[in-house]
Amino acid sequence: MLKDLFRKQRKYATIPSEQAKKEVPEGIMEKCPKCGTICIAKELEKNLKVCKSCGYHFSLSAPERIASLVDDGRFFPFDEDLRSVDPLQFPGYAKKIEQDMKKTDLNEAIVTGEGTIGGFPVILGVMDSRFRMGSMGSVVGEKITRAAERAAKKKYPFVLFSASGGARMQEGALSLMQMAKTTAALERMNRDKVLFISVLTNPTTGGVSASFSSLGDINIAEPGALIGFAGRRVIEQTVRQKLPDDFQTAEFLLERGQLDQVVPRLELRDTLIKLLAFHA
Ligand SMILES: [Zn+2]
Repeated sequence: MLKDLFRKQRKYATIPSEQAKKEVPEGIMEKCPKCGTICIAKELEKNLKVCKSCGYHFSLSAPERIASLVDDGRFFPFDEDLRSVDPLQFPGYAKKIEQDMKKTDLNEAIVTGEGTIGGFPVILGVMDSRFRMGSMGSVVGEKITRAAERAAKKKYPFVLFSASGGARMQEGALSLMQMAKTTAALERMNRDKVLFISVLTNPTTGGVSASFSSLGDINIAEPGALIGFAGRRVIEQTVRQKLPDDFQTAEFLLERGQLDQVVPRLELRDTLIKLLAFHA
């Protein structure tokens, strides 16, 4: 009798209907790293890759970011042909660049160009953390510099999205020099009274946080973004103190006056349009 009981339970198995199979094909689910919710990739994309349960901001590629900002997806890229050379003959560097180019379909860790946001023409720069962790080498520095020079010439605001692990160690001192070069270009732009809006996204660290990304006339960050110079462990070892849990988050920096605003991604385009209208 006991056996029969168990058999009855096994009589029916749940098989997903044909319809359900079509709606949720395999391999297009993503798990939120913050709350663990399983999201359907397409739904997530529609929500600009923000978790509907907890508001976690997944990282966006440069093309995704640009598409989320410019009017009708129209964007005219600059300097697409610029490519990193391997100035120090750093072991494996050339090969890694090749791999990242294939993986991302980009030539470098930043895309710059021109488009309109809410009808306002802007020069736009967007870093892509998939390419060498968004690190800043000579090409990234050069593209930002040229974009700033174009912004100054055309008197268009420059909006720059950072997502970077910092300077690119495979280019050594040449990479560090980009901090000074981009800063000088932004200073020239500033003298020409051209608006510079810096948007810091997760993560913005090292030499990028210590140069152009902190120099906006307006500095905005996405919620929860990690923003800092050195890593937490290095600082804790140096100052011999335990750091607060929210140390180096966008919210922590906002409270201490290092940012002007923390803006959720779904409100970012509207916020930019307001700022551009105000300064037009
Ligand atoms: Zn979540």
